[in-house]
Amino acid sequence: MADSKPYIIRVAVPSPLRRTFDYLVPDHLTDAPPQRGCRVAVPFGKREVVGLVIECTDSSDFAIEKLKPITAIIDQQALLPESLFKLFIWAANYYQHPIGDALFSTLPVLLRSGKALPEQPQIANWRATTLGKGLGPDSLKRSPKQRSLMTALLEQPLISQEQLLTIYTRATLKQLNDKELIELVLQKTKPTALDDLLRNAPLKLHQSQQKAMDAIECHGFNSYLLDGVTGSGKTEIYLQCIEKILRYGRQALILIPEISLTPQTEKRFRDRFNVPLVTLHSGLTDKARLAAWATAKSGDAQIILGTRSAIFTPLKDPGLIILDEEHDQSYKQQEGFRYSARDLAVIRAKQENIPIILGSATPSLESLNNCNSQRYQHLILDTRAGNASQPSWALVDLKTETLESGIGRSTLAAIRETINNRQQVLVFLNRRGFAPTLLCHQCGWVAECRSCDARLTVHRGRGRLICHHCNYQQRTVHQCPSCQSRELIAAGEGTERSEACLQQCFPDTPVLRVDRDSTRNKGAMQKVFDTADSGEPCILVGTQMLAKGHHFANITLVVVLDADSGLFSADFRSHERMGQLLIQVAGRSGRGSVAGKVIVQTHQPQHPLLQLLINQGYSEYAQLLLNQRQLTQLPPYNRLAIIRAESNHANNAEKFLTAARQLAETISPPSPSLGYLGPLPALMERRAGRFRYILQISGQRRGDLQQLLTTLCSKLERLPEARQVRWAIDVDPQEL
Ligand code: ADP
Ligand code: ZN
Ligand code: ZN
Repeated sequence: MADSKPYIIRVAVPSPLRRTFDYLVPDHLTDAPPQRGCRVAVPFGKREVVGLVIECTDSSDFAIEKLKPITAIIDQQALLPESLFKLFIWAANYYQHPIGDALFSTLPVLLRSGKALPEQPQIANWRATTLGKGLGPDSLKRSPKQRSLMTALLEQPLISQEQLLTIYTRATLKQLNDKELIELVLQKTKPTALDDLLRNAPLKLHQSQQKAMDAIECHGFNSYLLDGVTGSGKTEIYLQCIEKILRYGRQALILIPEISLTPQTEKRFRDRFNVPLVTLHSGLTDKARLAAWATAKSGDAQIILGTRSAIFTPLKDPGLIILDEEHDQSYKQQEGFRYSARDLAVIRAKQENIPIILGSATPSLESLNNCNSQRYQHLILDTRAGNASQPSWALVDLKTETLESGIGRSTLAAIRETINNRQQVLVFLNRRGFAPTLLCHQCGWVAECRSCDARLTVHRGRGRLICHHCNYQQRTVHQCPSCQSRELIAAGEGTERSEACLQQCFPDTPVLRVDRDSTRNKGAMQKVFDTADSGEPCILVGTQMLAKGHHFANITLVVVLDADSGLFSADFRSHERMGQLLIQVAGRSGRGSVAGKVIVQTHQPQHPLLQLLINQGYSEYAQLLLNQRQLTQLPPYNRLAIIRAESNHANNAEKFLTAARQLAETISPPSPSLGYLGPLPALMERRAGRFRYILQISGQRRGDLQQLLTTLCSKLERLPEARQVRWAIDVDPQEL
């Protein structure tokens, strides 16, 4: 022992500290020491925690005598494939987040707590390597047996060893394996035979689909933006690309914004393919999540369908990543480990050397810019599939309309006509509750949240006033607390009020509300789908939950009750978001054989942006916004990072950020390529009783900004002002 080198491991633990910790592997564990990527149990402070080995070494910056020994080794084999491990390290560095927290906050809960990965009996299968596929059987002319085996493996992606040994000898397998033309793959389930891969035949692609399909290379890293109007058949392209890579024996990872809202999506994948498919989303039990994770890791699941955090699913044989509705904000995690699943998906595809397809009818300005600079290939589908045509638009001027609960008289007439034609209507309003404000007619008192700079929303059904920012709730009041008047007015409209009004106007037609309140009960959403799918006349009223990807064949009228909130907001992304939302909602109209119509109510019918959007379409609109961003040097033409700080006392957050700015300026002084803005109060300064401030840093080059943030971060941790605040770094922030 005296002269043998110590066995030291660097371990990431779930902690907010931006560093790893060194531990000794005690003698009795060095026979089978833990490897990189394995979990270990370690003493940490007064507790014992589960950590993940980042590095195995024999030296430490700390005195060896001071290092504590690990308590136990949990995994014999790395929990994460090396490529995924690299993604985590990349992400932790890029997003300035502690590696331990990044790893552990995304692992299935049961693995975080040290539970063993379920053991799976494995079946040996063989498949052709890339080299084998390239050379083909003709290179084996002199050995008919090898040639025949090679041919079989080129026709079918995976064949079990058991089956092969009924025809070929072990020696033949070994010869081809030695030539690196075939390789062994261990899996739990038997592979689906190629003939059985499809449950239903693919559709015949229409012309622009075929053009896009031909452009997609299913080998090696390539990024594609599939920019197709709603209903143009993007999903069919996903399905056909997946089929290709399944035939190579590889797995497809598909990310979508929401699973529960779009059961049709899952069904379409299941209807097409006869292969094991797992879903990963927040609605799973811990056990189900672990099982899905484990089958993705072992390669038994060939299609993995998940929401944001599924980007961290381990895959045995990744072949393709698809990210649908790539503009959707839900891909950005807004707290804790603030990563963008969209951006990480591209990084992951690159590291795995596989293609990635980002799809949307309303691509983000970032992705459009990546097409302009040729980082992504831009594939455009500009017509709807089948018989469907694009909906037509009409603007209703709220200034001159007689309104009933925010619905114009001409709008009501259009709804009536649609119902009389036995079609369906979707009414969109991005505000839940009955009314956004409760005010006193006598003295002007307004019901406000005690902890936020916000008004309480009236929820009439539940008889409550609720803050939509901190979830504070109280029973509704019937008397003004300020002047005791009983003349309280619920002012403005929420979905609950629109629902009530529409039900009154159309007593014989089902009116179904879809928002976070109405869909809290399991099955509520299913009822909506069932009614809509029945094709009978009905009116759906709801928030943006209704805008997400659902295919309602008989909706021919979409009404946007209030387009104005998106026109006037302090966030530089608000116009982009408004355009995306309007186009997405409009896209629910006329997906069947009857042409659709969209009515947009606004006080600003002449607003140039609104005019541009509905007359020229989203791509012209987006191009104009891109030009504006370039002029003002905002993303995607400049990189942004925000340091957020919040505290119970208004001064502390601001003081911390002032100190942060001073520190940052000593590391990188302001220059034409690096600028500072702030500290400024956040758009909502006080939320949940805490005062929130931001410091914005913008840089022309990603590398400069990252370097500054890395140096700054370690210094910020030690600032005395840091003790009084909660702070976080948000790289590529999506909201201010
Ligand atoms: P997107 O994903 O672009 O919104 P979908 O893939 O949902 O569009 O397609 C819209 C509708 O058109 C679906 O009902 C789909 O089955 C149908 N469709 C797609 N491609 C074709 C095709 N090539 N031929 C006939 N119908 C198609
Ligand atoms: Zn009053
Ligand atoms: Zn509040």
